[in-house]
Amino acid sequence: MKAITVEPKKPGTVRFEDIPEPDVREGSVLVEAIAAAVCGTDVEIAEGKYGWAPPGKTRLVLGHESLGRVIDPGPNSSFKKGDLVSGIVRRPDPVPCPNCAVGEADMCRNGQYTERGIKEIHGFMSERWRIEPEYAVKVDPALGILGVLLEPTTVIIKALEQVLAVGQRAFWEPKTVLVTGAGPIGLLAAGVASLGGYEVHVLDRVESGLKPDLVRALGATYHSGSVLDLGFEPDVIVECTGVGSVIGDSVQKVGAGGVVCLTGVGAGGIASRAVADVAAAAVLKNNVIVGSVNANKRHWYKANDRLGRLDRKWLSRLITRYEKPENFKYALERKPDDIKVVIQFGEV
Ligand SMILES: [Zn+2]
Repeated sequence: MKAITVEPKKPGTVRFEDIPEPDVREGSVLVEAIAAAVCGTDVEIAEGKYGWAPPGKTRLVLGHESLGRVIDPGPNSSFKKGDLVSGIVRRPDPVPCPNCAVGEADMCRNGQYTERGIKEIHGFMSERWRIEPEYAVKVDPALGILGVLLEPTTVIIKALEQVLAVGQRAFWEPKTVLVTGAGPIGLLAAGVASLGGYEVHVLDRVESGLKPDLVRALGATYHSGSVLDLGFEPDVIVECTGVGSVIGDSVQKVGAGGVVCLTGVGAGGIASRAVADVAAAAVLKNNVIVGSVNANKRHWYKANDRLGRLDRKWLSRLITRYEKPENFKYALERKPDDIKVVIQFGEV
């Protein structure tokens, strides 16, 4: 079968090539790929900045945002042939740490977890893949190809769960949610937050085009410019840019008793203000800054529900390009108008 593979940490090594059929040790459920979405992590792996091949191998099958159709449910699963499924990405560490031991590999404490398509396990950008029944999530068939958005939605479900969990330390009734960054994660965050009945605001650099349109289509308010210029203090800020100045501004701007949830992974940059000033703003207003990454099975279950409740037309506009697997090079390029790029292996 064909797969999109890469030699991690070596730029320019991505290939669409023949590899053996998936090993039965990777799981008893056999799935034919329908689609795999591309995210920033895939681009970084392709650029040689990240990623690990399975032990003893030099190449890794890319892809962690999956949608496929069960072709053989295997002996021990409740799946049926034809079910649409998506694969949970992370596997617990072998020790295991206390969190992995209780089914919270997303909260792994020793970093020895593995991840499909990223860290030591093959991903989902192959014509067929196998998965353990307990790590396959049934996708609402009404979603069709939009089910490929399930994985990024899980990240948001977990982030919002974290926000509400830490908010319970005091009396708190959040009403306004600001999302910084109108990429796929930011837009999905706005979509999921709008389902929760919050007053949703999204801030991004661009002033016109698809992103503001998509935000307004949710009934949310779009802003461009600085967080500091907003005419209100959000109860919750979901930070999806990873940009230092936006993070600093968010901590300063969030309302008293509010929560800033960091989901973006950035690096470097110029400090827009001293760390102690950022901290002082948090202290004097009882703010919480919480980081959130990945998701566990509970979040996958909830994400399937929330995705199913979002308007399909709106969701379909998040996917701005479909590419064939042989055109992986274009799929892994970032173009200015891209929101989500999907590599399509087959029809739903
Ligand atoms: Zn762990």
